[in-house]
Amino acid sequence: MSKKSFNEFALSNDITKALSFLNFEHPTPVQKKVIPIALEKKDLIVKSQTGSGKTAAFGIPICEMIEWEENKPQALILTPTRELAAQVKEDLGLIGKFKRIKVAAIFGKQSFVKQKIELSQKNHIVVGTPGRVLDHIQKGTLGVGKLQFLVIDEADEMLSMGFIDQVEAIIEKLPQERVTSLFSAPFPE
Ligand code: AMP
Repeated sequence: MSKKSFNEFALSNDITKALSFLNFEHPTPVQKKVIPIALEKKDLIVKSQTGSGKTAAFGIPICEMIEWEENKPQALILTPTRELAAQVKEDLGLIGKFKRIKVAAIFGKQSFVKQKIELSQKNHIVVGTPGRVLDHIQKGTLGVGKLQFLVIDEADEMLSMGFIDQVEAIIEKLPQERVTSLFSAPFPE
């Protein structure tokens, strides 16, 4: 009885199919806790480590709740590093594979113009590092009017890398009515 399946979350066919494609049979402990609350559109603070399945813990509910028809980004995931942004983009792309969810990754040291073109197309989810995300919001190349979900991944790293001001500046630009989830390593401070 201890190992529950993903069926209990009553996910749509497209997401269920993707999870079996990925060979995700049972939710990890963090997913068991987070997914039902996230599906109720409640704010969350989650202590979790890399390897715990945290990306899918926020990725599954977001992919489930995305409205495919909407062309403007509905979810923004902030990560402290370019590598993590690329990884999260890949993971969310796999979870959203059968729903045909479009994910863009935007980070520094990459052509702004290329990203601008990507952002002008249909995107459901945008993943990025704070500096470049703020830059695109300020220049009007990343529209945030339809944003409903904000995830701050590795929040402890964000703090220690000095991104707090940029994260705050981003939050100020987002619609007030949104769901915010914060993921952080399970250490004090
Ligand atoms: P993360 O903590 O998000 O870095 O995920 C760690 C690894 O676990 C990734 O390679 C995921 O693909 C994998 N993973 C996440 N959730 C599950 C699951 N429910 N069953 C099996 N593998 C999983």
